Amino acid sequence: MSASDSEEIPVILNPRARSKRAAVLVGRIAAISPRVRIVETSEAGEARHLAAQLSREGYPKIVAAGGDGTVNEVVNGLVDAGLENAPCLGILPSGTMNVFAREMNLQVRSLENCWKTIEQSDGKPVDLWRADDHYFVQVAGIGLDADIIEHTTWEMKVRYGSLSYFLAGLRQVRAFRDTVTVRAEGQPDREAAYVLAGNGRLYGGPFTVFPAARTNDQLIDVVLVEKHGFRSLARLFQAMTTGGYRGLPGLHYFQTSGMTVWGADGKAVPVEVDGDFSSRTPITFRCAPRPLQVLI
Ligand SMILES: [Mg+2]
Repeated sequence: MSASDSEEIPVILNPRARSKRAAVLVGRIAAISPRVRIVETSEAGEARHLAAQLSREGYPKIVAAGGDGTVNEVVNGLVDAGLENAPCLGILPSGTMNVFAREMNLQVRSLENCWKTIEQSDGKPVDLWRADDHYFVQVAGIGLDADIIEHTTWEMKVRYGSLSYFLAGLRQVRAFRDTVTVRAEGQPDREAAYVLAGNGRLYGGPFTVFPAARTNDQLIDVVLVEKHGFRSLARLFQAMTTGGYRGLPGLHYFQTSGMTVWGADGKAVPVEVDGDFSSRTPITFRCAPRPLQVLI
């Protein structure tokens, strides 16, 4: 056994609520290996700060335990500390959706298997994207989905879980009417009702919204939805289930190396990244000059 095989690996854990379930999870993770060093956050946003601090301390591997929100916070912390010498990112998926962990083909139902991967892997490059200054690894949305996220309250999430997005969605599909202009590298300017952008293939859980996406090509996959309403949504679901957008009117699917999105009439349209509300338009998407090394 070499020295590095016995070193501790920090695991950043975001116990969303001081619940019994969170305490059980902490115990489960601590029991996986003597190398686990649990680093618990005590308030929102602290995971980012802790990740930056641990990165500066020189740990070669840092683990995010939680869902996509926690992964996003940790990723932004690693960027804060400098991507040049950033540690490799490990994931112990324990959120509701774990979209990025699924994208990385991690066994989201087995923390023990995920830990084995963390110990054995040397890291593989994964593109890191930014929406202005907010970095993300999986998805971004401008318009409807960000509006739905903004209208899904914490109380709804506690009460209905992932169903709360569906419930808020039913209301916002009717209420949300903003439109945007999209200027993407290599594409004509286009108007759209809303936009989804993917580093990976998956969106919102097991749904393949970006069938051609690769996480190491420095391109982002984009779906433009031309019109509001349930008919457009139905076509989007059709695309997900048939594996592509060919022949579906009102939807544009392309890849680009960067894009800027404005709200029509200067309106500040909401933007989400990795499933959490981020900011508002205008917004510019760029690929970071260096990839993130992910333990997969
Ligand atoms: Mg790509």
